[in-house]
Amino acid sequence: MADYQAPLRDMRFVLNEVFDAPSLWASLPKIAENVDPDTADAILEEAGKITSGVLAPLNREADEQGCKWNEGEVSTPEGFKEAYQTIVEGGWNGLGGNPDFGGMGMPKTLVAQFEEMMQGANMAFGLAPMLTAGACLALDAHGSQELKEKYLPNMYSGVWSGAMDLTEPHAGTDLGIIRTKAEPNDDGSFNITGTKIFITWGEHDMAENIIHLVLAKLPDAPKGPKGISLFLVPKFMVNDDGSLGERNQFSCGSIEKKMGIKGSATCVMNFDGAKGWLVGEENKGLVAMFTMMNYERLGVGIQGIGAAEASLQSAREYANERIQSRAPTGAQQPEKAADPILVHPDVRRMLMTMKSYVEGGRAFSTYVAQWLDISKYSDNDEQRKHAEGMVALLTPVAKAFLTDRGLDTTIIGQQVFGGHGFIREWGQEQLVRDCRITQIYEGTNGIQAMDLMGRKVVGSQGKLYELFAQDVAAFIEANSSDEALRPYLEPLAASLERLSDVTEHVVNQAANNPEAIGAAAVDYLDMFGYTALAYMWAKVVKAAAPKAESDTSGFYTGKVKTARFYFDRLLPKTVSLAEGIRSGSDAMMAPAANEI
Ligand SMILES: Cc1cc2nc3c(=O)[nH]c(=O)nc-3n(C[C@H](O)[C@H](O)[C@H](O)COP(=O)(O)OP(=O)(O)OC[C@H]3O[C@@H](n4cnc5c(N)ncnc54)[C@H](O)[C@@H]3O)c2cc1C
Repeated sequence: MADYQAPLRDMRFVLNEVFDAPSLWASLPKIAENVDPDTADAILEEAGKITSGVLAPLNREADEQGCKWNEGEVSTPEGFKEAYQTIVEGGWNGLGGNPDFGGMGMPKTLVAQFEEMMQGANMAFGLAPMLTAGACLALDAHGSQELKEKYLPNMYSGVWSGAMDLTEPHAGTDLGIIRTKAEPNDDGSFNITGTKIFITWGEHDMAENIIHLVLAKLPDAPKGPKGISLFLVPKFMVNDDGSLGERNQFSCGSIEKKMGIKGSATCVMNFDGAKGWLVGEENKGLVAMFTMMNYERLGVGIQGIGAAEASLQSAREYANERIQSRAPTGAQQPEKAADPILVHPDVRRMLMTMKSYVEGGRAFSTYVAQWLDISKYSDNDEQRKHAEGMVALLTPVAKAFLTDRGLDTTIIGQQVFGGHGFIREWGQEQLVRDCRITQIYEGTNGIQAMDLMGRKVVGSQGKLYELFAQDVAAFIEANSSDEALRPYLEPLAASLERLSDVTEHVVNQAANNPEAIGAAAVDYLDMFGYTALAYMWAKVVKAAAPKAESDTSGFYTGKVKTARFYFDRLLPKTVSLAEGIRSGSDAMMAPAANEI
């Protein structure tokens, strides 16, 4: 298996040449004071060293060892504690955090690249900093000044880690029916009682304290999602001087045996009158959670790209080395018993599909991150509102499309290896197993599709969709005289028109048929994703084509050729997706329960 190498060359290309991120950063004063191109580059370089040199080498063994549970304590795989210390020393947990409380205040466009490296190198480990960053975000946005001062600095530094406790045995997607209770105490704190399951890194031995953000219901709370509140519940109580006090009244009942990300602990957490503090307003817990969810959901999409990148690196190397059969046009390496499998059109189909998804996906995640930066840091109300709309629309696409294509990519990578992809040795089967969860947690991909189609597209009567459509249309218009782009703009425009037609069709259907949204949602999200990736590949061509002529490295010419492959072989999927969506809900709703 190829050792994972952080794809720094491509990340720099996407940031600097495709999106000109440094200009965006310079235009947003709150970012400009923290980052300039040299700082960003140094961060990328250092992140590459740590992820490739420290995290990646632990990935395989951690999968073998898993975490161990012993009477409520969880011990992590060999090397995790030391690696976590490296993350703490570098302040990586706080890379995107609020500088007022010790964060580094870096833009999401940059943080996203670090996240991808970390997830590509070692997804099980990468979940710990990811969840801590998510908890910090919710706390920073909704916590009281006192809570922020008390907890954020140690969470940004990583001395304490964070966990998000939403799921219960009977309540996953439908958080409105959670049973965990919060009873008020006289001193302003609450007693939290209930059971949470599947809590990632809910217990472990890497950090001094673990800060749980727990969803629970107050005694007089309204039923359903409008009656949920969010509480901060530390593993160890924190004294006024910042020192750690007694252990709180909750513990880890067990950890799950599972298909992938085995190096991470997935915990059952039993809260038994644990002391907690309200974050944000009473009964507004879901709102607080959604603040961080746009970031976390993009983060999960990025996990998909990370695993896919690792798979591609390995498959590319293998296809150059593995010799089987001769090329259809005759022997390419007659001195050998057979040619490398890279000569076969089908192996090229696999590799080019992988490259299309990985590099197109990286551009798309950076595009969404750019909107997140504008929505968070712009001083201009109109610009910020516009960006918030884009973030709302694109977040479910980033989460679901990037993880669906991430899993596709790892499976294709496994296929490149033939039988050697199925066995343990080459690492491909682990990537498939690890990547699978990304389609499920942080809201299943089916739910993401419902969010896109129902809440975002139909819910806004197509207005949010128009923001995206106008952005693509403006790009097409602005570049209509660019010769290099011409072959791409026409199919991009056709694809956008197809998507717009289908959008209008479903918005109309939804007015009369309550099942129309659910029936269309997943195919619609796919169609949206393929169109968005076409837009990304067109942007990539715009940046790469002028440099391709004098390129001997293959980097820029490879970009232009991959764009061509994407437009010829992958974008046409939108035609069949549109057909399926237009067929409506009858085919799936007609069968009675005993006919399924
Ligand atoms: C390894 C792992 C780590 C996790 N980490 C965390 C964590 O750190 N914190 C945390 O709180 N949770 C965590 N989770 C929980 C995870 O977020 C949930 O498993 C997920 O949200 C789905 O909930 P569920 O498993 O109860 O499935 P269900 O909600 O029971 O859904 C079952 C199926 O029904 C579908 N479905 C449900 N409702 C609808 C609907 N209205 N319309 C259409 N389809 C629907 C779903 O898409 C799914 O396919 C983790 C889970 C795992 C496995």
